[in-house]
Amino acid sequence: MPISPAYRPDPRFAALGPDFGDPVQAAAFPQATLRFRNDRAAASVGLEALDDAEWIAHFGRFVPLPGQPGPIAMRYHGHQFRQYNADLGDGRGFLAAQAREVSGRPAHEKELRLLDLGTKGSGTTPWSRGGDGRLTLKGGVREVLAATMLEAQGVPTSRAFSLIETGEALERGDEPSPTRSAVLVRLSHSHIRFGTFQRAAYFRRTDMIETLTEHVRALYHPHVAGGDVPGLLSAIVQASARLTARWIAAGFVHGVLNTDNLNVTGESFDYGPWRFLPLYEPGFTAAYFDQFGLYAFSRQPEAVFWNLTQLAGALKLVADAEPLTAALNGFGPAYIRELRAAFLERLGVQSLGEAADQRLLDTTLALLRQGGADLRWEPLFHDWFGGFASSARALSGPRARLYQGEAFDAFRFALFEHEPDRPERLADPVFSEPEPVELLIDQVEAIWKAIDEDDDWSLFQSKLSRIEAGRIALAGPFDG
Ligand code: AMP
Ligand code: MG
Ligand code: MG
Repeated sequence: MPISPAYRPDPRFAALGPDFGDPVQAAAFPQATLRFRNDRAAASVGLEALDDAEWIAHFGRFVPLPGQPGPIAMRYHGHQFRQYNADLGDGRGFLAAQAREVSGRPAHEKELRLLDLGTKGSGTTPWSRGGDGRLTLKGGVREVLAATMLEAQGVPTSRAFSLIETGEALERGDEPSPTRSAVLVRLSHSHIRFGTFQRAAYFRRTDMIETLTEHVRALYHPHVAGGDVPGLLSAIVQASARLTARWIAAGFVHGVLNTDNLNVTGESFDYGPWRFLPLYEPGFTAAYFDQFGLYAFSRQPEAVFWNLTQLAGALKLVADAEPLTAALNGFGPAYIRELRAAFLERLGVQSLGEAADQRLLDTTLALLRQGGADLRWEPLFHDWFGGFASSARALSGPRARLYQGEAFDAFRFALFEHEPDRPERLADPVFSEPEPVELLIDQVEAIWKAIDEDDDWSLFQSKLSRIEAGRIALAGPFDG
């Protein structure tokens, strides 16, 4: 039995019909060498029992899994750097399968989530424009690292599922050429983008918007009443605010926050020029092609909000403007609330009410801003996790000399007001070492260099294991 009986295929997107996607075929790659398979993610959809040859057949050659209709390139438009582009769509990827999440979720949840297996670098489609439909191996390695690190930090994220090297030589302007190729599969909670709605609105297809809103509501926001479009927008606004706050608390810069890269579940995906910031650097811009810093670290909330206003614009074809505006206006308060919650979680302390939590957020940000080049934020979170309970360890550790001065005193005062959360983590031997993400921030280039120059995958593998160990010490299910 190669596939576990728990596997539950449910290809709902294909059932929407030809207005929403196009059947496509994967490229015939000269080679398929398995570089990474995520068995924990595979188990969540009942696919962990595939042997490597079967895995390669399904995720390198794209033989359809049982109960799946075959690859579908999704149709969407989007604003790229605020310019509308009606010529987008899955140009180098497709939806390979949809299946229910059969393990890894809290038991009280009745409805099993519907997850997508989506590809990147699987070949050309009707939406490739001039592109080759391919992904560089370096791009694939970087997406695996980003998704794994984000998951470890409690950010709602797609998960890297599979990475297979495909044996082609790619020309890329921004890489030494030629460079190696790969196909990535990600497991994510929906690939329906803001731009999916924008495309329907562009063609004034109210019928398509209605089909989409009902599909998204029923599958991804079932607590919203049927037909309540502003309620659905509000649910997407809240999920997006939570996601944005979690990027900020992780020190993460996505890099390309176009409306085709944000989805309706508030789960991030598509990691290209991403960076984790070692230091608090509000103006840091990850993408070299982002000349004006539109998607700089601290402008991410503004970017997500702007994108939500574009989604609201599309929904205006089927709902009144006023309640849609009210739903949009929920973004600011939700973002601040979620940012407080995210920082409390990273500092391992419990909420003490809005005013005290806000003091902690403000003083933490002030300390990070004023701390200088030695005050890296992963070590700060690590040293002070649990608040007062950590002081002996933090003040006798290698960074003790950083913990003095006015900004630090204000931070400590606000922190010590709060009771520790999850104190058991402080006793975990894995936790007594520095945070895994901190170890990784500076090493992405070194990991790639070892792979590219020596075909040495050990650094990549050991870093992933290290994050995995840290993740277990850290939390539990990534979206709990
Ligand atoms: P991204 O910046 O990765 O979100 O991609 C934006 C759009 O460009 C999407 O429609 C992609 O499918 C398309 N695209 C990106 N790279 C390629 C490529 N190498 N070949 C074809 N289409 C691509
Ligand atoms: Mg994209
Ligand atoms: Mg991309």
